[in-house]
Amino acid sequence: MTQQALPITHINNFYKAPHFLPAYATRERFNLPLFSLYILLHVLALAAPLTYSWQGLTALLAMYFLTICLGITLCYHRLLTHRSYNTNRAVKYLLTFLGCLAFQRGPIWWAACHRLHHSKVDKEQDPHSPRYSLIWSHFLWAFFWHPQLDEEQETTNRLALDLASDSGMRFFEKHYTSLNILCLLGLLGLGYLWGGWKIGLSVLVWGGFLRLVLCLNITWLVNSACHIWGYQTYDTGDRSRNNWWVALLTWGEGWHNNHHADARAARNGHRWYEVDPTYWIIQLMRQLGLANNIVPVRPELSLAEPLKTK
Ligand SMILES: [Zn+2]
Ligand SMILES: [Zn+2]
Repeated sequence: MTQQALPITHINNFYKAPHFLPAYATRERFNLPLFSLYILLHVLALAAPLTYSWQGLTALLAMYFLTICLGITLCYHRLLTHRSYNTNRAVKYLLTFLGCLAFQRGPIWWAACHRLHHSKVDKEQDPHSPRYSLIWSHFLWAFFWHPQLDEEQETTNRLALDLASDSGMRFFEKHYTSLNILCLLGLLGLGYLWGGWKIGLSVLVWGGFLRLVLCLNITWLVNSACHIWGYQTYDTGDRSRNNWWVALLTWGEGWHNNHHADARAARNGHRWYEVDPTYWIIQLMRQLGLANNIVPVRPELSLAEPLKTK
């Protein structure tokens, strides 16, 4: 890591490049059923203003914390993908269950995809680099079968061998869609018990459909916004950025340039003002005896000053 000017030119314009899709994104590889499902989710979420209740809003906030903070950030990303800390089997499976409810596919595929991102960051093989376009990096990438991740099962298994050899993870990989359907039914039932069918519908729409739409887009911001807008502390040779508003929305994941500089570290916020609530939870887990082998930030990194980014 050096502290010199970045070798990236026209950083603010690259996402306007004319080739907005990679070559493999052909019509044959377009996942129309999944895309239709996501469009349907967005349409169903439009019912939110008509079904508002404080119980629905409470369900949305609770599910946002459970599925994004605990499920995706704490578990899928820092625990399963990067092994930034260790926990016992029961907690690992409970957190993985919550990660499945974010409807971002199973833990094995998610970890393989993200490890591929780290190994090929902003290069041609990166599954979601904004080198093609903003909309590709934000959501379009998710609706095309990836030549390695989806068409070569061995590649996915090789990238996430530790998870693919775990029968519990294979269970979640196979059944994450069913778990999401059960979750939606559970929200409807919980709302019904809370105050009848009207509240049941409200909890389903707000805690289910609207929460899924918001949370998917919040997670996708790490792939899009955090490779476009923000500052670079470290010259990582890629386009990763530290972005404060994405960090606030994602419970600390927006410190993405820090993360690319030291992917295994459990703490993504390297400075006092880089708030990282997920790391606070890892610290709390350690105090409760639920987290160990927490990987620290490499000491030479924590002293670096922010680079001036054009
Ligand atoms: Zn990245
Ligand atoms: Zn990562």
